Amino acid sequence: MLSLRKSKPGFGLDLFDAAETPPPSPTDAIVRVENAGICGSDVHAYEWTDGYGFMVPHLPITMGHEFAGHIVEAGAGSVLPVGTRVTVMPGVDCGVCANCRRGAARNCLARTAIGLTRNGGFARYVTVPAVNLLALPDAVDTELGALTEPLCVGAEAVLTGGVGLGDTVLVMGPGTIGQAAALFARAAGAGKVYVVGKADGPRFDVVQALGFADIIDVAEAPLAEQLDGKKVDVAIEATGYPPSIVDGLGVLRKGGVLVVAGIHPGPLTLPLTDFVRNRHQLRATHGCDRPTWDKVLTLLARDPEHFRPMITHRLPLDRGIEGFELARQRAASKVMLRP
Ligand SMILES: [Zn+2]
Ligand SMILES: [Zn+2]
Repeated sequence: MLSLRKSKPGFGLDLFDAAETPPPSPTDAIVRVENAGICGSDVHAYEWTDGYGFMVPHLPITMGHEFAGHIVEAGAGSVLPVGTRVTVMPGVDCGVCANCRRGAARNCLARTAIGLTRNGGFARYVTVPAVNLLALPDAVDTELGALTEPLCVGAEAVLTGGVGLGDTVLVMGPGTIGQAAALFARAAGAGKVYVVGKADGPRFDVVQALGFADIIDVAEAPLAEQLDGKKVDVAIEATGYPPSIVDGLGVLRKGGVLVVAGIHPGPLTLPLTDFVRNRHQLRATHGCDRPTWDKVLTLLARDPEHFRPMITHRLPLDRGIEGFELARQRAASKVMLRP
């Protein structure tokens, strides 16, 4: 069975002929992966930028945490039967740490992640805890099902920012998380949504196809200049570029909220006096809460084709490295691999 693996620290990934999966334990299920998306964080791990050292003790590992398919074998403890089309929540909680015990599993102290610290979906079959599986609504195929995880990350950023009716929202970063944040800001009732990027042609095309006309290219002029004195109520950062946070705060209204969702390779220098005087609220979001998955699947089922333009490339798994290069060079927006 072909799998796309991170074998060792350093640049790159390799295609590996992995052993077939043994029968699942009573609490696990085996999923036949049909679609698996390449995430921005997968690209970081591929390039081996700072911040991915946590993977080292777990290598070699099959990557891929955005995937969907159907159950081919289910342990006795699985609620969902064989054949169910599913998407997978990648965060695996330990169930026994102090935070899990107090009902805050999202803050689990010993959390593992499918596709980052245990084998993931860039392979034909993957064994996962059955409780991590969610049945896909009939209207949602496995290609859109594989988009659920990044959609949830974008939705959580919108929830964290408290976007409300009529708000003006600034989304920084036109990639998949930014696209998802823009879509859910609109769904939450935002009156205006600006999407900011830098010379990001292919991803601007997707943003436009999703129905957003207010695109700001900071390669042409600085953000504040292009907004011409207008301020925003909520800013959502999905760039992974620390200075963009200062740019975002520069156009945020007094008392406004800026949500940081990107994974950043270095620290931020923040002008604190402006920050304090404007009572700007800086919040972080990472992953998402369990209920957000159901909210996103409900919205995805309501109008699946609305989300389809987010997927720009579809490749067989044996061309996975090509997919990573397309994503790395920002020639693609979302690349789906088909094992
Ligand atoms: Zn992801
Ligand atoms: Zn725990």
